[in-house]
Amino acid sequence: MSVSLYSLNEVELTEQLAVLDEKSYRARQILDWVWNKRVESIEEMTNLPATLREKLAAQYNLHRLQHTKTQGSEDTTRKFLFRLHDGRYVECVLIPASPALYGAKADRRTLCVSSQVGCAYGCKFCASGLDGFTRNLTSDEIAGQVLLAEQISGEKVNNIVFMGMGEPLANLPNLLKAIEIITAHWGLNIGARHLTISTSGLVPQIKKLADHHQQIRLAISFHGASNEVRDRIMPVNQKWPVEDLMEALHYWNARKRQKLTLEYILIKGVNDDLDEARLLVKRATAARAKVNLIPYNTVEGLEWERPSSEHCRAFHSILKGNGVVSTLRLEKGHDIDAACGQLRLKQEKAEQ
Ligand code: SAH
Ligand code: SF4
Repeated sequence: MSVSLYSLNEVELTEQLAVLDEKSYRARQILDWVWNKRVESIEEMTNLPATLREKLAAQYNLHRLQHTKTQGSEDTTRKFLFRLHDGRYVECVLIPASPALYGAKADRRTLCVSSQVGCAYGCKFCASGLDGFTRNLTSDEIAGQVLLAEQISGEKVNNIVFMGMGEPLANLPNLLKAIEIITAHWGLNIGARHLTISTSGLVPQIKKLADHHQQIRLAISFHGASNEVRDRIMPVNQKWPVEDLMEALHYWNARKRQKLTLEYILIKGVNDDLDEARLLVKRATAARAKVNLIPYNTVEGLEWERPSSEHCRAFHSILKGNGVVSTLRLEKGHDIDAACGQLRLKQEKAEQ
């Protein structure tokens, strides 16, 4: 089987060219065709000698994900459905920032990217885990979502959140390879500071990421400040309880300048007790993190509900009143996004 040219970095490509007895400067030319000019066949790489193009075509391909569907419209959020080579599907979501809300940041175009097909972590409120885990995405499938979203929309993506399907930190090697390509100046050229990884709390991988040289941002799907609440809704907490997670966040803060974000979905009668808010104040303060409160988005087949707006505000007031930087967005019409259980949350996170 041939290798995807979308999966190679400059060093790897240079090594491959040496094996083919070709000059190293060809690597730059090839990367320019792949990521800048974005040709769809090796044949189109016209500044390469025909013999090299033939050699490349025998071993490499430029297969892309297949765009099968778009939901939404240009001035709002658009969701793309992509078919993978094995017939599986992933989605990604392109979110424009609203000029009314964001002024100078209005040119921000955020893409919410998937990292796995399905998810093994089985959080009780989440649509992605409902069907269990199928497989990891490869680095070219992760970076390929950005390439295709830009091609379909005709717009340059300048902010990426790894908040689509899957647990990105459970696919760390492929994720970091994709990030290398996404951030490379020969690649998609998006600064690491404009990338946010979200995790449900994989402690060893959080520490690994804290040691990683790039200044990537980190969001934690917290959703409960006590072990009691987290245990009930997030099975991952049985492996790494809140104390371990907090220790990993301290480790992050000791190594990174990027401020942490704690995501907190408000679910009626499950994690919205005001005592939980008081405990969340302690956690956020200790982790020097800001908090995003997100009223629960209804998922078909799950029985959870969001609390009343008044209750969400009361929860928020406790955070604000205790000096925690936090947001709560309570716009109407949340069920418009019901088809994608997480769309709204992605929007929240993306617009931080
Ligand atoms: N697995 C990672 C990355 C996925 S991000 C993680 O959990 O962080 C997806 C985000 O959507 C997570 O913060 C998740 O908690 C949230 N989410 C899942 N189901 C939701 C729902 N029904 N309403 C609102 N947010 C939801
Ligand atoms: Fe997986 Fe994240 Fe959904 Fe939990 S919230 S099931 S970790 S995608």
